[in-house]
Amino acid sequence: MSKVGETTLVLDLEALEHNYNYLRSKIKPETKFLGVVKAFAYGSDMVTIAKKLEQLGADYLAVAYVSEGVLLREAGIQLPILVLHPLASNFDDLIANHLEPSIYSKNILEQFLEAAKAQKQTDYPVHIKFNTGLNRLGFSEADVNFIAEETMHSKCIKIVSAFSHLAASEDKNERDFSLNQIGSFKKMSNTLMDKLGYAPMRHMLNTSGIINYPEAQFEMVRSGIGLYGYGNQAHVDKELQPIATLKTIISQIHQIDANESVGYNRAFKSDQAIKSATLPIGHADGIGRQYGKGKGFVTINNKKAPILGNVCMDMIMVDVTKIDCKEGDEAIVFGPQKSAENFAAAANTISYEILTAISQRVKREVIKK
Ligand SMILES: *Cc1c(COP(=O)(O)O)cnc(C)c1O
Repeated sequence: MSKVGETTLVLDLEALEHNYNYLRSKIKPETKFLGVVKAFAYGSDMVTIAKKLEQLGADYLAVAYVSEGVLLREAGIQLPILVLHPLASNFDDLIANHLEPSIYSKNILEQFLEAAKAQKQTDYPVHIKFNTGLNRLGFSEADVNFIAEETMHSKCIKIVSAFSHLAASEDKNERDFSLNQIGSFKKMSNTLMDKLGYAPMRHMLNTSGIINYPEAQFEMVRSGIGLYGYGNQAHVDKELQPIATLKTIISQIHQIDANESVGYNRAFKSDQAIKSATLPIGHADGIGRQYGKGKGFVTINNKKAPILGNVCMDMIMVDVTKIDCKEGDEAIVFGPQKSAENFAAAANTISYEILTAISQRVKREVIKK
């Protein structure tokens, strides 16, 4: 009998390289490429991915929070790192680690100017975020004067880029909205450049933006999900390779008689004799309760085994009545053959959510061919 192994997220760096090269092939050679590695590189392994992207020739990295950038610096990453959502309480750490803040509000601009001055910085690189319709973070057009005046009066900071973010770049039905966002961004960044008297880089496109609006690539693009092998659209998915495979094993098999139940709250009740397999993966590993009651399934010996009843913290039970399998056999939750996007869709969510949900308890294994 095969040895019991633990639940593992296997990461394929050749797939990452393939995806990087594919995305790069969609933009001009001179356009810079920023790899988004926030949230543990979409639930994979931030340092491993960042190192590989650095080696592949990415120009920039981005994280959401300062603490993520600090981890990258501690691991020796040299690339410039944009912090998309810094908070004023983290500015000293940010500066100490040479991380570059997104400046998204008047408040943040003033507080960063103060921090940069206190730390005796000159020309500290910052990135101006414009809100063009997502209504999440960013300055509006009316703030451009304020930004230009504040930065020109201070020698502490230098605007190295202006950027914005599309709200629905994967949605063809929202094409007019996206084009409108691109138009507003051009207008705002042009006004800013006029007032500053120099031209910072501009960037607006995420993965689906690269595919659908290549004319708006400006000087840089920012890709996350595409690097990890998902394209939000079937024709793009075909070109990409998921880098992560989530696998586990069967720890025990039970014969369940008719009129028995499986798991907490007796959420599954059998009306006939079935065979169940218990797997060492649960909601504490990222498989949320929404995948229970037959919505999510794993693949065992190439066959679908739906989740029976409720997802437990550390386990799921799956239906293997029709599967020839034994304790110790492998179960695949998602991977190149069985996409995380389909798994997520079964529970009404998206690849981004299931990928980033895989908790730190799950062992990461990197295959280097
Ligand atoms: C997360 C994020 C991205 C990456 O988006 P993908 O759809 O994963 O390519 C780009 N820009 C910003 C501002 C983000 O927050």
